[in-house]
Amino acid sequence: MIVAIDGPAGSGKSTVARALAAREGFVYLDTGAMYRAVTLKVLKAQVPVTETARVAKLAQEAVIEFVPGAPGEAPQVMLDGKDVTAAIRTAQIDQNVSAVASVPAVRQAMVAQQRAIAKNIDIVAEGRDMGTVVFPDAQVKVFLSADAAARAWRRTIEREGGNAAQPGAQVKDQALYESVLEDIQSRDAQDEANAASPLHPAADATLLDSTRMAPQQVVDAIANLVALAQARQAAIASDNAAASQPSAAEKDAPSQPASTQAAPGASGSDATKAKDAGATGAKAPKTKSGQAPMRPFHNTFDDYYDHGMREFPLPARCVFNVAAGLIYGFSRLYWPWDYEGGQQLIDELKERELGTVMVMNHVSMVEPVITVVMFWRQGLRIRPVFKQEFNKNDLMRWVFSRVGGIPVDRGTADLKAVRRCQRALKRGESILIYPEGTRIRDDDGKAPIHGGFALIAQMAKTDVTPSAVIGVRDVTPEGAHIPRPHRVHFKVGAPLKFGALGVKGRKAQLEAMEAKAMDKVFELRAQLRRDYPGEW
Ligand code: C5P
Repeated sequence: MIVAIDGPAGSGKSTVARALAAREGFVYLDTGAMYRAVTLKVLKAQVPVTETARVAKLAQEAVIEFVPGAPGEAPQVMLDGKDVTAAIRTAQIDQNVSAVASVPAVRQAMVAQQRAIAKNIDIVAEGRDMGTVVFPDAQVKVFLSADAAARAWRRTIEREGGNAAQPGAQVKDQALYESVLEDIQSRDAQDEANAASPLHPAADATLLDSTRMAPQQVVDAIANLVALAQARQAAIASDNAAASQPSAAEKDAPSQPASTQAAPGASGSDATKAKDAGATGAKAPKTKSGQAPMRPFHNTFDDYYDHGMREFPLPARCVFNVAAGLIYGFSRLYWPWDYEGGQQLIDELKERELGTVMVMNHVSMVEPVITVVMFWRQGLRIRPVFKQEFNKNDLMRWVFSRVGGIPVDRGTADLKAVRRCQRALKRGESILIYPEGTRIRDDDGKAPIHGGFALIAQMAKTDVTPSAVIGVRDVTPEGAHIPRPHRVHFKVGAPLKFGALGVKGRKAQLEAMEAKAMDKVFELRAQLRRDYPGEW
């Protein structure tokens, strides 16, 4: 678990982060000390801060290490093998550190070291850009602030050898206080203006103002956030364990082809892995899915359905990337396609955490392929939901699993598929569903609409994006096996939110969403047909 604590100078980060790390048994990382150590090296080498190339080189060469102190105490800071704990806390360092820290190459070097330190351990990291840049996936993010006068007051008492947290603590030297205040204000301004990594809270950080809080209160508040995050992780782990219990149908199903079964002695079935994760509580899950990480080879199909596409093993990701690149290039030439409204959707998805459930009319196998590579090209992932029957063909089963497909048993209320989609959406992946279920090639062709898409979106608390395609009917006319070249047009509508449907109650909202989304799909298709007369 990573706890990221950011905030301006003197906000109490260090005291709080140290106490929290001691309480939770986590490692404490003071990233400010790292920038201070580099600054000391730069000053000692008498390199002007304006000579950024030389400064950067010194940062890259600096060997910074921490020797842990007693729990709750500051660690010893070592620079190139020498103890610099006291030397990095002088006024001269205070005055120069922000300038050194604003050199992009210095930041790069420090960020790399910070990430390396945090690898595979529980850590409380404090600094300016922990939640925004260094650990954007931190499970707990806090931005600690306090007004400048309170911060200067604390720093002055510390400089005078006192303890600001002690009741009755007083500033002795008013002139020192004034100069510390001035320094804090100027560092705030520099840190906020630091173009490489400006000081600001991460969008998902909890803001805490410590001006009138004792350090212990702040520690308690963050410890509560840690407990919540741990509970959340444990819930995800047990959720996965429940979701991956084999259904009756799966238990009866014939076993998988030998090549895809777990290797003998490997860590076992999904259900076992997830259960293991659940049993060991918050610390067990190692991936965003809360699942044990996938192995490079010999994963089960379920592994692919249950993990995020970015958690697929490297060989599978390479195959997917190469194939997506080839198909992207090929499809642009062979089926010159345009995706009206696609960019708008992509831009919105990049800004938010939840994916969307995209629904589309279904004419051929070309439109899911183009949609998958269109998303891929933009750095996003969309997972097509496909009917279980395709899995009867071993090759199709393999391909669908590698491109992120999620199988659905259409004859039943397939809750397992619903939950897989729900988890994918929460990871930021989108879901592509063809509610008509089967390809409809003529205008009179009607299929019962499978409304599961609305349930999936509702469970994931996200929206449904209607979209339509034309031009694909001629790509694979009835009876033809080899797709033909043809121009293809897509149109994407605005995502439909449950809250904007104008109905109350979960069930009523579901029904309204199913109807509205499909009306919109057909409306978009009609618009495309008007825009491109003669195309179907
Ligand atoms: O936290 P501390 O006051 O020791 O940090 C010293 C300076 O290091 C800050 O004023 C800031 O300029 C820089 N710093 C940074 N990014 C961090 C931590 C500190 O730029 N993550």
